Amino acid sequence: MKPESLMMTLGYDAHEHQGAAKCPIYQTSTFVFNNCEEGKAFFELAYGLREKEEGEEMGMIYSRLDHPNMNILEKRLAAWDEAEAGAFFSSGMAAISTSILTFVKPGDVLLFSSPVYGGTDHFIHHVLPQFNIGVVGFVKGENEDVIIDRVEKAYPGKKPSMVYVETPGNPTNSLIDIEMASRVAKYFSTNDKKCVLAVDNTFLGPVFQHPMEFGADLVVYSATKYIGGHSDVIAGACTGSAELIAQIKGMRTFFGSQLDPNSSWLLQRSLETVKIRMEAQAKSAKIVADYLKDHPLVEKMHYLGFLEEGSELQDIFNRQCLSTGSMIAFDIVGGEKEAFMFLNNLKLFKLAVSLGSTESLAEHPATMTHVDVSPEDRLKLGISPSLVRLSIGLENPQDLIDQIANAFEVVKKANSSAVC
Ligand SMILES: *Cc1c(COP(=O)(O)O)cnc(C)c1O
Repeated sequence: MKPESLMMTLGYDAHEHQGAAKCPIYQTSTFVFNNCEEGKAFFELAYGLREKEEGEEMGMIYSRLDHPNMNILEKRLAAWDEAEAGAFFSSGMAAISTSILTFVKPGDVLLFSSPVYGGTDHFIHHVLPQFNIGVVGFVKGENEDVIIDRVEKAYPGKKPSMVYVETPGNPTNSLIDIEMASRVAKYFSTNDKKCVLAVDNTFLGPVFQHPMEFGADLVVYSATKYIGGHSDVIAGACTGSAELIAQIKGMRTFFGSQLDPNSSWLLQRSLETVKIRMEAQAKSAKIVADYLKDHPLVEKMHYLGFLEEGSELQDIFNRQCLSTGSMIAFDIVGGEKEAFMFLNNLKLFKLAVSLGSTESLAEHPATMTHVDVSPEDRLKLGISPSLVRLSIGLENPQDLIDQIANAFEVVKKANSSAVC
């Protein structure tokens, strides 16, 4: 069956839960054992002290380790990614930091693509070095020879233990070739130690991009965005092979970065509609992007529907993306002043960071989500003062366009009065 059919059933048997059609919220911190022997058996399995016996079922112990709402949710997200297993976290950053620190140890090197989400960028540049972890970056368009050479020059004799990729990258929709990143990870893998390829799939996943098909070992998410989809919960996730996810869950238990029952329940509800939401949002975004493209106050579009025909980026898009998604960034004619005036006068869109929700959101990356990226990097990555980022929601696209047109009018009037 297709994942959308599984979202209402997978992992849940109503008859084990008083016949409740929807999984109740298990608002409990701890679970009662039938007897000491059962408690002992569960702990042995939880700590990996022995293998499961034939037909033996693991039970619940304590909600930091596992609980029914999170457990069902993990199976359902894994179905979208065709992964063996999934893990949920209290935020996207919890998913990212826990996954990275599971495989990247003090003295190791992390190779990563830029731009990445501002929080991830800060974690890589300012937190990982505190743990004596070296970091090397690369950008779209760089090939494996260039990237491998850079790592070998920066850290002679060292092999990165993880390649971390975000594609499409926040905020400019820049694309990284996942198959190319996978070849780099393979190059740095040895028989003793695998170099793990992790892909942040927040912008197009779980519906429009399946990184594991292209060689990713782990797929990470801010579930706050499209998976949650209603701007009402902070959560994160990771999917992958049973073996890797088990290691990550082991770390999650001791970081305490699991997702709570209530948020897990909200996300179960959200996963039932993720496909139709993402499809409707992408359709509207196309209409809005078409309008923006021809507007005289738009200097440059950063939208997956407008990649240059025959370019390498278009080729990557054709291979790994199933939709142009609903994130649009564009440079307004002018700079920060014009961008602010546009955003301050945008109605219907909410002036807020985050993305992927039912309501459309707008923000200014250079002074908000990506303010902590170094000015040189911002320049190099196209995060200019004139850049505006829009996340298109479920409103009528013509209503959104009308609001955009009004905001542009205000900017236009201010420009012409400045000239007079
Ligand atoms: C928002 C976001 C994150 C961080 O997720 P939180 O849920 O806010 O912790 C990571 N990656 C991307 C691409 C994001 O957009």
